[in-house]
Amino acid sequence: MSSVVVPSSSGRFARRLSAAEANNETLSRGPTVVVPPKHLMAPSQALEVATAMEQARHEIDSPTTPTTPGTPPATTVTDKYAFAFDIDGVLIRGGRPIPEAIEAMKMLNGENEYGIKVPYIFVTNGGGKTESERCIQLSQQLEIEVSPGQFICGHTPMREMAERYNTVLVVGGEGEKCRIVAEGYGFKDVVTPGDIIKYNQDTTPFRKLTPEEWKNSRDRNFDEINIEAIFVFADSRDWASDQQIILDLLMSKNGRLGTRSETFDEGPPVFFSHNDVVWSTSHDLTRIGMGALRVSLEAMFKAVTGKELKTTAFGKPQIGTFEFATRLLQQWRKDTHRIDAPPETVYFVGDTPESDIRGTNEFDRHADNTWYSILVRTGVFQEGSKPRFQPRATVDTVLDAVKHGMEREYRKALKASRTNTSAALKNEG
Ligand SMILES: [Mg+2]
Repeated sequence: MSSVVVPSSSGRFARRLSAAEANNETLSRGPTVVVPPKHLMAPSQALEVATAMEQARHEIDSPTTPTTPGTPPATTVTDKYAFAFDIDGVLIRGGRPIPEAIEAMKMLNGENEYGIKVPYIFVTNGGGKTESERCIQLSQQLEIEVSPGQFICGHTPMREMAERYNTVLVVGGEGEKCRIVAEGYGFKDVVTPGDIIKYNQDTTPFRKLTPEEWKNSRDRNFDEINIEAIFVFADSRDWASDQQIILDLLMSKNGRLGTRSETFDEGPPVFFSHNDVVWSTSHDLTRIGMGALRVSLEAMFKAVTGKELKTTAFGKPQIGTFEFATRLLQQWRKDTHRIDAPPETVYFVGDTPESDIRGTNEFDRHADNTWYSILVRTGVFQEGSKPRFQPRATVDTVLDAVKHGMEREYRKALKASRTNTSAALKNEG
């Protein structure tokens, strides 16, 4: 009945998702909370609460369903290497899987000439819904089971900031979804632009709330509330009104709406879940994204106040995101494949030179193991242009990327066994 399967108590992941069982009803049942491995999170009471709630909900949802194991253990899983995938422009484009993506996943899951399975994770800058919701969707799109334990999106690291601020403004995404995500992360008091417009409709002269938005927006008294930080979780659906509200706060005294700072340096900090200026979706040409909003906001702040605005972005290519990915991969390999050492090589497959390739290359210089960047031609990067950051390999599709990595590993193993053999012969002689 339930899409939620809680692994045995020893499992560090509060839940695994089954694409086969997920449906709209389970998705719309209210906030879905994903709890990542504890060591990935800052100390927080919210974690305990969220875990307890999730456990409780699971028990309510399926009192008689026995806990079923997730992916059955593979006969041979390589401990030498792993893959990490960007999603948009690599596996999915405009809501549909890129045809080669499904075959690529099958190959990693054992349908290959080498007779092995290769562990993998997903690292996207996208967002706007809970990790579990996105994993269910991705499972259906790619015809595999994707667990939140192998998934990072742009706003995932923001959960670590939930303890730091009391009242926050969350911007972007569809309807109330990002508020739900933020509350699931443990943010204590989440305000949306809709709440602010509902309080004072003159805030945005050209935007009126729809009846649905009016109903969902909360009644607050913003004369008594200081907004301590601004988080852009997902793409803004209304740049003009969202920017107006963010600008009002940036120019305020300590995040109190209706006030104006004389120095314009008393406003709350702004965080973006990533910095991609363009992204690849169903249109033939790239579309502007959150990074463009960031550039625009900084320019506007300068134009209005004459001052520089400093904002912070998460996501790729930030080193922090790759460190997070390293910890996730380690935990995932340990929990699912019982591998307790880091992989020698991680193949990172992406379509955006500025985030995927740049981040992988920079992290490679930083990390003890090898992070090998592979650029595909199905997304932002198009043939004929020169990528600003050079990948280790450029291939047509994600399937070619998987083949490239697996063949490279096979050649490496072959070479190593030849060296061993000749060394052994030498010793005998
Ligand atoms: Mg991409």
